[in-house]
Amino acid sequence: MKNHLVLSMAIAFSLTACGGDKSAELQEKAAAPVAQAAIDTSDPKVYHQDILGKYVPQKVADRVYVIHGPTEMPTPENAGFMNNPGFIIGSESVVVIDPGSSGQAGRSVVQRIKELTDKPITHVFVTHIHGDHWLGNQGIKEAFPEAKFYAHPKMIEMANEGEAESWVKLMMTLTDNKTAGTEAVIPDQVLAHVEELNIGDITIRAHFTEHAHTVTDVMFEVVEDKVLFTGDNITYKRIPRMTDGNFKGNIAAANYGLEMPIDVVVPGHGPTGGKEVLTAYRDYLATVYESAEVMMEEGLEAFEMKDAIVEKLAEYKEWPGMMDEVGKHISLAVTELEEASF
Ligand SMILES: [Zn+2]
Repeated sequence: MKNHLVLSMAIAFSLTACGGDKSAELQEKAAAPVAQAAIDTSDPKVYHQDILGKYVPQKVADRVYVIHGPTEMPTPENAGFMNNPGFIIGSESVVVIDPGSSGQAGRSVVQRIKELTDKPITHVFVTHIHGDHWLGNQGIKEAFPEAKFYAHPKMIEMANEGEAESWVKLMMTLTDNKTAGTEAVIPDQVLAHVEELNIGDITIRAHFTEHAHTVTDVMFEVVEDKVLFTGDNITYKRIPRMTDGNFKGNIAAANYGLEMPIDVVVPGHGPTGGKEVLTAYRDYLATVYESAEVMMEEGLEAFEMKDAIVEKLAEYKEWPGMMDEVGKHISLAVTELEEASF
């Protein structure tokens, strides 16, 4: 274990030494704890403690905070951190939603929370199976062994059947081992649709959707605060992968959110806002899906649709991920439409 960490630190060092581009500053930041002799860098609980860097909690409602992560894919520079960990500080305790992509990210989230309150973290809610949202559970579990971890039953099942290990490995690969030492803490508390949990003076209501971003999605309503955490059923100013998704179900999930008595929408990635966050992503998905449907009827193949559909999506062109993903999204929409027509 120790040798493994030394190795990964050596990699971190060599990356820093080589980095002459604009990411050099971030790499320096990521490697900073290594350079400080006072910190025991062989201890994974300390290493990368400040992985979140400039990403600090922002208040989105009275008691609700979000650390809006980078809207990039996982890289060595961001050490895999790329989602929106959220937390609610109640009268008794703290509730966390999606604590990030690695043990390191989770520890950094704990550190940020401790800067604001000395109340314990007692409950963690996971929005879906993708590891960039929940591998941070490890950091919470280390600091608060009594904390309970909740998710969709299918998330728990899939994670235990191999998805957890795949995500640990994937994050290692994408970050050049910056997530070394990360172990999957798989939720064991099974949620049900519209289940309500009363945690001191915080009420969390879990909303299941049909197959949307994945088959494991839960959106979390913070009832008193009128806040909705959507997971990746909704992303804003960033276009996600839809490889595990379903266009029709995801559009329905956005419409479901629009009916809810909420004022604040925290997307899985990208900035928090009001209900326009739901509408914007729904309209992206609907444009892809409905355009593909019309063009299929005209006899076009998926690859022939791209230019016309991209033109219709002009307002999303600057969203990170859009130009990488739109071609794949069209293919997925076509496959979905073909399946629906049987
Ligand atoms: Zn996702």
